[in-house]
Amino acid sequence: MAHRVTLIPGDGTGPELTEATRRVLEATGVEFEWDVQPAGEEVMAEHGGNPLPDQTLESIRANGVALKGPITTPVGGGFRSVNVGLRKSLDMYAQVRPCKSYPGVRSRFTDVDLVIIRENTEDLYVGIEYEEGTDDARELVGWIESKGGKLRWRDVGISIKPISVTGTRRIFEFAFDYARRNGRKQVTAVHKANIMKFSDGLWLRVAREVAAENDDIAFNDRIVDNMCMQLVQRPEEYEVLVLPNLYGDVLSDLCAGMIGGLGMAPGANYGDSVAVFEPTHGSAPKYAGQNKANPMAQMLSGMLMLRHLDQTEAAHRLESAISDVIREGSSLTYDMKPTRDDPTAVGTSEVADAIIEKLGVRV
Ligand code: NAD
Repeated sequence: MAHRVTLIPGDGTGPELTEATRRVLEATGVEFEWDVQPAGEEVMAEHGGNPLPDQTLESIRANGVALKGPITTPVGGGFRSVNVGLRKSLDMYAQVRPCKSYPGVRSRFTDVDLVIIRENTEDLYVGIEYEEGTDDARELVGWIESKGGKLRWRDVGISIKPISVTGTRRIFEFAFDYARRNGRKQVTAVHKANIMKFSDGLWLRVAREVAAENDDIAFNDRIVDNMCMQLVQRPEEYEVLVLPNLYGDVLSDLCAGMIGGLGMAPGANYGDSVAVFEPTHGSAPKYAGQNKANPMAQMLSGMLMLRHLDQTEAAHRLESAISDVIREGSSLTYDMKPTRDDPTAVGTSEVADAIIEKLGVRV
């Protein structure tokens, strides 16, 4: 039976990347029924000024699975991020970003194979902020001082960092479950509990509680600054890293850099009953419509989707075909070549052609 999947092409380079990915996914032999849905600035006018139409959310809820291209967030002008809006509306609390070295990728590192799990709904991303100089900020400063809090200066802007027991427990339960299902043996909690005792401290305490309930998987923890150093010195010692929202954002780009850059970094967002697969990178608007952007991250996100749909064998074949094309080194986009103006670089759709040819050999 065909898998019914919501397909959100997105904007910028999104439509060409998702089209290349749709082609390689279909070349695995798995059958799909694509439910193509709009989102982004370009569709706002048709949907009453809404860049994230209800029909798109309804489609993801009904199908449970979506493949999504990147979507631009224009700077300023009251346009909230569709990407953040989507994660919030569907309560997709877990963002999973596997970072794996493929032979042939140009990187300082050759032996990375770890997974970043980022809590997606709390922390400094909740958007509870008080602007410097406003009555609210002054009132809050007064309240803090009345409780014995000492501020070096009173002309402050304030961003709130909430981390809850409930949110922390569900992300660690997800992480241990993910580790078990994916044959991983160790989970590492990342934090700054030595400084933020009541937010990161809570995170570490609850992580330890959940670890004790899952003692078939090894558990350790690292302070975030030490974690950064460890990652560049001994990445092979880590398997699954679990981070609050902000550290997760920063370290997933660090790890993307370790495996060859944004063009190689796939991702997935999970809620209890939905999963949306999208690359780590954005819409790279300067390359839109030029058949230039690297489709690997979008395709590897599609490979993660195949695994999620229990199409394990097809996922394995697609990953091998991608890996072969990378190792051979000829059918790659500009960003994977020795220099950015390498004349042998091919376009987005030619990468898809090369992968489809490899899949054909194996079928
Ligand atoms: P970006 O990821 O689009 O680009 C960063 C750099 O990486 C650019 O030089 C770009 O050309 C390059 N790059 C990105 N993807 C590439 C690819 N597939 N192949 C080759 N090169 C690639 O980040 P940005 O410029 O900060 O953001 C552009 C827009 O995307 C913004 O509006 C941002 O809000 C949005 N964005 C969307 C998502 C998402 O849809 N989940 C994520 C991040 C950023």
